[in-house]
Amino acid sequence: MSTVEQQLDDLEAEITSELPSDISVSSVKYEGPELVVYTRDPKKFAQKGDLIRKLASKLRKRITVRPDPSVLSRPDEAREEIMEVIPDEAGVTDLDFHADTGEVVIEAEKPGMVIGRHGSTLRDITKNVGWTPEVVRTPPIESSTVSNVRSFLKQERDDRRDILEKVGRQIHREEMSDDEYVRITTLGCCREVGRASFILSTPETRILVDCGDKPGAEGEVPYLHAPEAFGAGPETIDAVVLTHAHLDHSAFIPLLFKYGYDGPIYCTEPTRDLMGLLTLDYLDVAAKEGRTPPYDSEQVREAIKHTIPLEYGDVTDIAPDVKLTLHNAGHILGSAVSHFHIGDGLYNVAFSGDIHYEDTRLFNGAVNDFPRVETLVLESTYGGRNDYQTDQEDSEEKLKRVINETYERDGKVLIPAFAVGRSQEIMLVLEEAMRNGDIPSMPVHLDGMIWEATAIHTTYPEYLRDELRDRIFHEDENPFLADEFNHIDGGEEERQDVADGEPCIILSTSGMVTGGPIMSWLSHIGPDPDSTLTFVGYQAQGTLGRRIQNGWDEIPTSEVGAMGNGGGRGTLQLNVDVETVDGFSGHADRAGLENFVKTMNPRPEKVLCVHGDERSTQDLSSALYHDYNMRTFAPKNLETFRFL
Ligand SMILES: [Zn+2]
Repeated sequence: MSTVEQQLDDLEAEITSELPSDISVSSVKYEGPELVVYTRDPKKFAQKGDLIRKLASKLRKRITVRPDPSVLSRPDEAREEIMEVIPDEAGVTDLDFHADTGEVVIEAEKPGMVIGRHGSTLRDITKNVGWTPEVVRTPPIESSTVSNVRSFLKQERDDRRDILEKVGRQIHREEMSDDEYVRITTLGCCREVGRASFILSTPETRILVDCGDKPGAEGEVPYLHAPEAFGAGPETIDAVVLTHAHLDHSAFIPLLFKYGYDGPIYCTEPTRDLMGLLTLDYLDVAAKEGRTPPYDSEQVREAIKHTIPLEYGDVTDIAPDVKLTLHNAGHILGSAVSHFHIGDGLYNVAFSGDIHYEDTRLFNGAVNDFPRVETLVLESTYGGRNDYQTDQEDSEEKLKRVINETYERDGKVLIPAFAVGRSQEIMLVLEEAMRNGDIPSMPVHLDGMIWEATAIHTTYPEYLRDELRDRIFHEDENPFLADEFNHIDGGEEERQDVADGEPCIILSTSGMVTGGPIMSWLSHIGPDPDSTLTFVGYQAQGTLGRRIQNGWDEIPTSEVGAMGNGGGRGTLQLNVDVETVDGFSGHADRAGLENFVKTMNPRPEKVLCVHGDERSTQDLSSALYHDYNMRTFAPKNLETFRFL
């Protein structure tokens, strides 16, 4: 008998002895990090309110209880009873019964009302029908990404259970080594921005953290074939952890499956959905530019199928000697500071991913409070000695002034913006400004992936800033549903109508004017001296956005491309007013990075400054060393650090 079988038998015996004699256990199984207990008495289980919680703390495992399929009531009967238990205001939109596992997935507009106080309504459901309820939110704005991911996972349910069982056995295998060490190997993003990737290894376990591309440098992938990474074979990697969905962290996650990786990906649920959206778009853009993408959509689906979503704060076993906890990073939806607890109290490492330390309109600031942490791997995008950003309040004032001045001229405000993060932050600024009368109420048109990304944000309000989440939950005033917001879904015809119409604001991708519908808007709005082109995000060297910022006003129509209505030869004359409003960054600036470290509890002993250019990482590294007396490093790619 394998050790995992033995372990499960022992657990079954222990659980049985802990339970009252009238509750029977028919089997126990690992599914990923969870221990699933099947019982013939699910109703009695549910009646004893905190039985599961007690078992979980006694066994130090995450426990799910499910009914043995032999005792399940018929779905049509159960459906009626469930609908009687759930209050009408919950807005149930779908019930989906899975007899193989005894689960019923309830999709509702207000999941909180299905859950009830401390889970009381969920327990009532099981008490009445025996099925194990699972609740998901109906997106308040229809999202094709969310519905595609959900229906795909439903269709792949059997495969997914096999994957989870296999991962469960891997996690709970017996430790083989008596050695003790912790190492980090850098595979990318050192003294450069982009292609984030690391290997965290112990004698027992190897974990890949992030696997991104380098914007503007196609072909520069992380050093995945290093002996510390896939060089030793894809099966030697236990797990992949993804800090957030931006492509410089996620673009090559699907590629791992092409290389033969078959294990789990841990990230938050919104990160999974955004990764799906952004990697599929990445393939799309590559195809449009005539490049051969390194993988195809099949591998994106594999990645989604292998994702085990975690919530912030869940302490989760991901290997025999490693526990992972994700914490809010304040950077984009679902972004996570990833904390690894290694061994039983042996060592702790935190990877910041990308962070924003102060609160923004969208997110709470990054968490920097941990039970223990000895080494911090810290992003350094704005780590340079002069990398200070404008205060967001001042930026918002400037943006409102630009909008008011343009409105008085009867012009339109065109804002190139990244789909994820920046756009939603600007939407919140505009919504509040109109509500308070700081700017006149006018249509705000959203073009490109912005609408879809916004829909994903509204699906996961628990990942948003407290005040924003409360507004969405309790006051029923979801700012993203404001009447002024309009989704451009009618293509070129609708754009022409908007361009011919009244004063308005247009938010469109791409954020650096390198393609997408912004090219079309540029040809519509660009010649109009009464309108304003307003940059709210960083414009990289070499992009059209940067050149316009620098005063370029005669653009060959070939640059505007097929999206524009120019086409062919000639030039597009830009008469539009050009403004730049800084300060809406999703990244901490130099002060924010220092504050993150300075106020970190506990203070780390060592800091690796990564994910910044040479100057930024070295500036930050030496400042942290001098000011806070910690050992700091600005590693190069392919360096290995041994701790312990
Ligand atoms: Zn990022």
